[in-house]
Amino acid sequence: MKTLLLVLEGDGIGPEISQATVESLKKIDSLLGLNLEFDFADIGLKAYESYGSTFPESVLARARAADGVILGPVSHNQYPPVDQGGINPSGTLRKKLDLFANIRPARTRGGFSANSAKAVDLVVMRENTEGFYADRNMFAGNGEFMPTADVALSVRKVTRQASLRIAHAAFELAMKRRRQVAVVHKANVLRVSDGLFLECTREIASHFPEVDCQEFIVDAMAALLVRDPSRFDVIVTTNMFGDILSDEAAELSGSLGLAASLNAGTDHAVAQAQHGSAPDIAGLGIANPASLIGSAAMLLDWLSRRGRGEAFERAGAIIEQALDLTIASPEGRTKDMGGTLGTQAFTTQVCQHIEGLVK
Ligand code: ATP
Repeated sequence: MKTLLLVLEGDGIGPEISQATVESLKKIDSLLGLNLEFDFADIGLKAYESYGSTFPESVLARARAADGVILGPVSHNQYPPVDQGGINPSGTLRKKLDLFANIRPARTRGGFSANSAKAVDLVVMRENTEGFYADRNMFAGNGEFMPTADVALSVRKVTRQASLRIAHAAFELAMKRRRQVAVVHKANVLRVSDGLFLECTREIASHFPEVDCQEFIVDAMAALLVRDPSRFDVIVTTNMFGDILSDEAAELSGSLGLAASLNAGTDHAVAQAQHGSAPDIAGLGIANPASLIGSAAMLLDWLSRRGRGEAFERAGAIIEQALDLTIASPEGRTKDMGGTLGTQAFTTQVCQHIEGLVK
């Protein structure tokens, strides 16, 4: 059975880290016979130049048709307004493919940790389809608006359905890990919206008595992560809190350049690095591709649980190990990790480790 992956390189460092990711996937495919096929489509500023849209309509159909998507980071804050073709590919894919869970691991790799004394191994489960995100929380129109020139309003949407399903995904994940869930909220102030989120997480928690569940107010969690990120296993929270806390956790575990993530729904999944398009280092060949390579490994694991079987699970695990082995050596690190390797040299080392691990 062939597996079709759609690659959307995106903006900034997107092309560099996407190419590194495809190279790593081709390497594991050549060794394990996964039968991967790649489709490539332009999005972002490159697509805008050619088609007048940063997310041409045909791309969505190709994403639906693919078995998985590799999405490079996008510079959506540089895009023109939506009515002039500036569509955020990331938000659109999350909404249209109903990718309700943004799974964001923060794990110390190969003993490398710039910031934390203890090894970190946690996963932030971030609700992905509503919250404070103006581009995806309305049926029509935008969740941010100005009734007068001097007043700006933002609408935050929290629904029972979305809260229940992200909580369920978090508790299921915890069952496969250390069986701890931290629910993060601000229900002391946002009593109605975060109150509903909290009610839903408590309902799901009652079905998982084996899981130790604790509740934290978001500001306390920000401080506790700095104090000791190693104490957390699965953190479940709403969209914006999850965005912020996962960057914090990723940086504490090593570097934002290591931060992988998967946007997963019931039928579709999109591998996407946690970070942005890093315009400050774009085109210099120094970006750390571990974030997107690790995201692709998560996608292979997701595919294994959706009928692709053990070879995909093994492939995902081998890529993860190859990243760890590369980073374990100070000579195997990119600039963000205090090393000297460029994107290509790092990728070559990852591929060599993949080969060594399979043989
Ligand atoms: P966004 O708002 O889209 O998240 P941003 O500009 O706020 O984007 P990033 O693009 O994530 O943030 O970049 C933050 C910092 O981290 C930058 O200095 C960037 O160079 C660095 N960085 C991000 N990703 C990588 C990477 N893969 N390798 C090396 N450095 C990175």
